[in-house]
Amino acid sequence: MRPFASTISIDEARQRLTASVRPIERTEIVPLADAAGRVAAADVVSTIFVPPFSRSAMDGYAIVAADTHDASREHPARLRIIERIYTGHAPARAIRSGCCAEIATGAPLPNGADAVVMVEDTGPRQGDDVPIFAQALPGQHIGRKGADISPGDAVVRTGDLLNPSRIGALAAIGQPSVRVFARPRVAVLSTGNEVIEPGCPLDGAQIYDVNRFTLAAVVHAHGGIANPHAPARDTLDALEAALDGCRDADVVIFSGGSSVGDRDLVIDLVQKRGQMIFHGIAVRPGKPTAFAIINNVPFFGMPGNPTSCLSNAYILLVPFLRATARLPLYAPRTVSVPLGKRIVSPAGRHQFYTVRINDGIAYPAFKGSGEITSLSRADGYIEIPSDQSSIDEGTVVTVILF
Ligand code: AMP
Ligand code: MG
Repeated sequence: MRPFASTISIDEARQRLTASVRPIERTEIVPLADAAGRVAAADVVSTIFVPPFSRSAMDGYAIVAADTHDASREHPARLRIIERIYTGHAPARAIRSGCCAEIATGAPLPNGADAVVMVEDTGPRQGDDVPIFAQALPGQHIGRKGADISPGDAVVRTGDLLNPSRIGALAAIGQPSVRVFARPRVAVLSTGNEVIEPGCPLDGAQIYDVNRFTLAAVVHAHGGIANPHAPARDTLDALEAALDGCRDADVVIFSGGSSVGDRDLVIDLVQKRGQMIFHGIAVRPGKPTAFAIINNVPFFGMPGNPTSCLSNAYILLVPFLRATARLPLYAPRTVSVPLGKRIVSPAGRHQFYTVRINDGIAYPAFKGSGEITSLSRADGYIEIPSDQSSIDEGTVVTVILF
């Protein structure tokens, strides 16, 4: 055993991680249909007007507004219908005083018309004529050419998250694709002689690999591409070979072997191949967490215990990964509810304590750092600062929801 010389606070760990983020520089072009959730890597400037032509915003009649001066239900203006204009067709004729064209929403406004009167303000056709019951103002119910977007307008800027509405703006200017920042490639690899892949039968002392799947799921949900690797055995040679297999990764995440036992060799790996940024955080669960830079690539040594590993993935990896992927900060939803049972917390460690919410009351869900159901049966967690040793039943707590 090689006990931790010291641990750092969660805040210190976060600061060192933030200082180590290098936002991804690689870019790629993706079809617009695949752009949701990506981050624009260039300004996109329109070369067209949107709408590309002036058009009617209502079903009704394209008219000369002055023709409806003083029109009312009692004294309608009567206009001669010279054309029917549907969407997708250019008008054939210009509108002169005394005339009008029946027009559909989205159809091009004919020359000469300066207003649209909606069908609700007109009466039934009488032969080729239509009675207009209301006075129209010039410009009414017209969507002017370029009212939305003009040539030279930037519809998306570098760094913008491509949400549905920004994808809509790109679609409106006819962009089939968009340049985005690449998703960080994240190698995910479990270590441990006992850890085996799903599908293999278990023998006496083995367990299935959990962390590779939880970590890959977190990576996927927060902008990365997870590249899972087979588990590595607890020898320095095996860890070095495993690390060499992660050469194309932007971020490397190992789990297991990050503590202080004889067979916990991740620290030896870092000492041999990179620079340690921290090892040991005053949190529970998740104390034996390491972060290093190896060959200029960020390296996480996560604890093997599945709950410790996943908890620190939420707390430390998610912000790091999102910053690397240039995604905005993640703001989980929270609820404030009373605690259903007293909780005790170890002195000197910031605790992330999982809870289940039943009928508006938070109940402890934390079983132990090794139990994945500490998390899988929880709805969220509460934070208990290192200087607090208990929370009484009935105290209103803020639950950060998964
Ligand atoms: P370690 O951090 O290597 O000391 O492992 C701590 C505990 O977590 C041990 O009980 C391991 O068997 C377990 N463990 C390590 N890696 C994994 C994994 N990938 N999936 C599930 N359990 C693991
Ligand atoms: Mg181990």
